Amino acid sequence: MIKTKILRVDPVNPELKLIKEAANVIRSGGLVVFPTETVYGLGANAYDPKAVVKIFKAKERPLDNPLIVHICKLSELEEAARKVPEEVYIIAKKLWPGPVTVIVWKSDKVPREVTAGLPTVAVRMPAHPVALKLIEFSGVPIAAPSANLAGKPSPTTSEHVIRDMYGRVDVILDAGETLFGVESTIIDVTRKPPVLLRPGPIPVEKLEEVLGIKIKIPAFARGIREAEKALSPGVRYRHYAPETPMVIVESSNYGNYRDYALKVMEVARKYSMKGLKVCILASTETKDYYDASEFRVMVLGSRKNLYEVARNLFKMLRMLDELNVDIAVCEGFEEKGLGLTIMNRLRKASGYNIVRVG
Ligand code: AMP
Ligand code: MG
Repeated sequence: MIKTKILRVDPVNPELKLIKEAANVIRSGGLVVFPTETVYGLGANAYDPKAVVKIFKAKERPLDNPLIVHICKLSELEEAARKVPEEVYIIAKKLWPGPVTVIVWKSDKVPREVTAGLPTVAVRMPAHPVALKLIEFSGVPIAAPSANLAGKPSPTTSEHVIRDMYGRVDVILDAGETLFGVESTIIDVTRKPPVLLRPGPIPVEKLEEVLGIKIKIPAFARGIREAEKALSPGVRYRHYAPETPMVIVESSNYGNYRDYALKVMEVARKYSMKGLKVCILASTETKDYYDASEFRVMVLGSRKNLYEVARNLFKMLRMLDELNVDIAVCEGFEEKGLGLTIMNRLRKASGYNIVRVG
């Protein structure tokens, strides 16, 4: 057990004294959990291999799953990377600070512990004021994965972080709830055309527009099983998973709410008829079609505002395990814009347990 200090900070106008205290911990080789605009991160000095190894221990994460290097200025990218492709400067200009991570060739400064021995490194400039100030005061880039125990849904509130990381890290910077609630979009710009490794808050369509090129979307970025033999080691592991078994009901027509909800209910009923307690993860538009005396119903958010669905997603997955149900039957979403991001997380969370209803 490590003694963990929780520092409550204002997300918009953080108390600089507290951020300095956390930055001192980073500088002396310790671990700091910090908020970002995506999810909470578990950070250490990216240039200190001993500190970086502590991250893997605290998370119980396999050592061959690489981390993201968080920077607060472009000169830090140029120090951590070499042969930086033009696309990165376009992304930096248009979308940083923000929830997009680029894969670039790594420099010798970045220890192998950060990249799991890969010749590339993942870099991003986060938009959260607390994260930016922490990196600035630390004077070094901060390597960080999400601040959850390996395999669990990423933490979007300080309660999640405290549950997973209390006693495992030196400092937790508590700034309330994160904004997007899903991890950054990751794009590999060392390949031509660039490859989407993980969909996130910035839709792939937006990246294509900014870069003016088509981006390759491999099956694993959609959360389809082929991920197992993926290009990127990080996408190989089971992720985001609640303890409660989950099944995703996918359709090619989510637009007819009533029809779709009836199909979802049919799937749910198969389980309830076996005596299982079922929770339906629904949308605002479909929730009223489900019989609340027969099923627990939780609402992820509106199909007309997928940012809401994304923001609630991990919180709902964690809440599921407190409901004492035997199985969750979860609605699917059209794979457009943020819908791709949501489906990637849901498919993985379910362990690829998918039912197609046409
Ligand atoms: P986390 O958000 O906790 O999963 O941690 C960062 C993720 O970034 C990993 O799971 C990997 O998928 C990805 N990543 C980090 N570095 C690289 C890299 N060099 N190449 C490909 N993917 C990477
Ligand atoms: Mg993670």
